[in-house]
Amino acid sequence: MRKLRSLLPVVLILAAVPAAVAQKSPAAAPPPSPSDFLHIQVGADRVLADYGQISSYFKALAAASNRVQVEVLGKTTLGEEMIMAVISTPENLRNKARYQEIARKLADPRGLSPQQVDAMAREGKTILLITCNIHSTEIGSSQMAMEWAYKLATAQDAETLGRLNNSIVLLVPSLNPDGETMVTEWYRKYLGTKYEGGPMPYLYHHYVGHDDNRDWFMLTQIETKNVNHMVYHEWYPQFWLDEHQMGYNGPRIYIPPNADPVAKLVNPLVHRGNNLMGTDMGWRLEEAGKSGVIFGYEFDAYWPGGTRNTGWWKNMFGVLTEVASAHIATPIEVEHTELQGGGKGLATYEQQINFPNPWPGGVWRLRDIMDYELIISDAALETVSKWREEFLRGVASMAEHAVDSADPAQVWRIPMDGQRDPVTATRLAALMLEHGVEVKLSADKRSFLIPLAQPYGRFVEEMMGLQRYPEVRPTPTSGILEPYDVAAWSLPLLMGVKADKVNVPAAEQKAATVLSSASLPWPPGGLAGSGGYYTVAGTENNIFALTNAMQSAGGQVFVAANGGNAPAVIFSANPQLAANAEKFHIRLQGRADLPAGAVALKQARIALYKSYIPSMDEGWTRFILEQYGYRVKNIENKDVKAGKLNDSWDVIILPDSSRETIVDGKGGFGGGTELLPPEYQGGIGKEGVHALREFVDNGGTLITLARASSVLIGEDFGLPVRNTLASGPGGRAEGGEGGGFNIPGSLLRAYVDTSHPVGYGMPHEIAEFYDGAVAFQTSPPPPEVGRTVLVWYPDDAKDILVSGYAHGAEKLERKAAAVAFTRGKGKIVMFGFRPQFRAQTEGTFQLLFNSIRWAEMEKSGG
Ligand SMILES: [Zn+2]
Repeated sequence: MRKLRSLLPVVLILAAVPAAVAQKSPAAAPPPSPSDFLHIQVGADRVLADYGQISSYFKALAAASNRVQVEVLGKTTLGEEMIMAVISTPENLRNKARYQEIARKLADPRGLSPQQVDAMAREGKTILLITCNIHSTEIGSSQMAMEWAYKLATAQDAETLGRLNNSIVLLVPSLNPDGETMVTEWYRKYLGTKYEGGPMPYLYHHYVGHDDNRDWFMLTQIETKNVNHMVYHEWYPQFWLDEHQMGYNGPRIYIPPNADPVAKLVNPLVHRGNNLMGTDMGWRLEEAGKSGVIFGYEFDAYWPGGTRNTGWWKNMFGVLTEVASAHIATPIEVEHTELQGGGKGLATYEQQINFPNPWPGGVWRLRDIMDYELIISDAALETVSKWREEFLRGVASMAEHAVDSADPAQVWRIPMDGQRDPVTATRLAALMLEHGVEVKLSADKRSFLIPLAQPYGRFVEEMMGLQRYPEVRPTPTSGILEPYDVAAWSLPLLMGVKADKVNVPAAEQKAATVLSSASLPWPPGGLAGSGGYYTVAGTENNIFALTNAMQSAGGQVFVAANGGNAPAVIFSANPQLAANAEKFHIRLQGRADLPAGAVALKQARIALYKSYIPSMDEGWTRFILEQYGYRVKNIENKDVKAGKLNDSWDVIILPDSSRETIVDGKGGFGGGTELLPPEYQGGIGKEGVHALREFVDNGGTLITLARASSVLIGEDFGLPVRNTLASGPGGRAEGGEGGGFNIPGSLLRAYVDTSHPVGYGMPHEIAEFYDGAVAFQTSPPPPEVGRTVLVWYPDDAKDILVSGYAHGAEKLERKAAAVAFTRGKGKIVMFGFRPQFRAQTEGTFQLLFNSIRWAEMEKSGG
């Protein structure tokens, strides 16, 4: 088959891409292969190219080949250049602006006649985005990308050239260059030791680790923003393939179709297109003798948080693949008895219709991963090339359908009046613009209007509306299929923003102005009036950023309680106050003196505990605190164990991790810290727990998030509280979900004590993001201890779920969701949920910020 094809190229080159060949100077050096260029054997056992090498190879390839260009997507978190290769025929690359324009118009075909759409579908090229290595330990695709690009740059066979003529490939060799570097460095450092190919003791993204693929609707991280901008503002690819790796002892590769459930609002054509590609991948893999191929497995078609999934609601085809892993670049031998099923779509490791050719076991190496990925990348290009016109027309028809099927009067409205936090409300409009959604400003300039009748209208409804998890059962008597990730992402609820779906008459919509990121009107900040002090009602997140900025500038900040109403936050007059108030969009009112009862704030020194079993919650917490200007530093096991914590810190935060992880260094990695080099082994130990208790006794403030509360529950701290959902000893949370309880990430109704400093400025009723296994039951405390239930659940289970999925919600009835304690001079705040989850829950950030501010309140009263 291959031999026959190789006879054709000369003819086809002349027919299809004459300019390409004619233009290439005969003196130009042929493009180098990755191995030749880097002087390593790419894909060999124990050999990895790092991101610097990958990037330099792509630049060399682009210099030597007129089929390859390199675009810079932006900088990474740690300042690395994030690159993307654009690969096609020289002629297509010369006309790429035209093909980008066609892609943009087909993605929003409003105003085009059917004839114009048809003409563009015939003229256009399918734009195929392939992204690699978002998860840094899933490293095969970053290496494969170089080989595949080289293959496309040098192929002379008719088939490849025909495919390139029909398509433009956007190839991102790593979606997380910083992490590629970290994993490669760690791997090389421990080559030849017993830790070779083992886990790293820190997150492979500076802030978010594995959650870099949970950021695609909130767009908080710079890498996500870079790619989002390229996709929805520059290239409008019709197809997105994102290549991952999974565990080592199951199937060899997952390809589409996805598993259930399926999202209601996604146009079914998306899945049809995805399945075409999956079918082609399966065919090509079997043809090449590759076994262990599975579909309809694990990965559902419901959740919008990952790379290509978000695009489904924007009429984009998008496919995930997952190849079995080795130990990074170290081969792994799997006995046939060790092969396992489990999870959706493969209960036991056996031949099934979605898994017709099980892998028999044996040695599995980096080269195998890359070979499978080369085949599926070729198949992806083959599919988009063969189905070019259908896919281009399909995107336009889905966009038209999204417009036509919506009620043209219906809009999501974000009013500016009556918002507790107008800046965050504006940020929601900004986020929608960043997603490529059309957002308007009403004629009276008091509301943002987001019409549902627009190409991305399904995305708007998914993000603005409520989720109800579909309860799909494989058979009538079986249990439901559980969610893959979280089950709720209603942005107004997550962000604490008021928004409603209303009918707006056509004339009124017409009178509204279409906004861009540049024309978006942020609430005006600055100073009004005059005096020695400036004040604002403390309800906005940015007030905390302003507080930190002014404290750093030497200004004084005070807070004055106001019953259950929003407290007053007061800033002393300062040369930098006006500029900062403008920057953070906060309007301050001048006054002559401090109000009665004003308490001065002393900026806290904050320690954030960091385990050697990396906690993404730690990274997210650090990210948010840094964003808001807090002085936060990490402390590790040895720092906690050493004690005398009050000398250096006013606040210690324990992010979400189990007790066994924090105290003993166990759990995680399919083992624990014993898989790490000796200096990373263990946890804070008993002495660490003792040191934390001493820290509180000496006046420190300890804040725990979700499961970390288990460190404080039980005999060690003597607090009158237990976790009613715990399966562990002493009423500790051990992640026990047994007994018919599963809330995997949903928005729950809860009530806040707004008269307590931790509840200041919050609404009484909130939507809290819950994904844990913690519910507190307090009891009357001993005399030296004070306790306040800060946040609690409704009395009746049917009032608890707001958005998402909740099984067993009655176990939360009338339980506490957050509790505060005072003991001696010290303070403790325990959250049973995560008020800062993945930097998405802006509506409850203040509960965390307030906890810090409670520590900052001077006892003297000013
Ligand atoms: Zn992955």
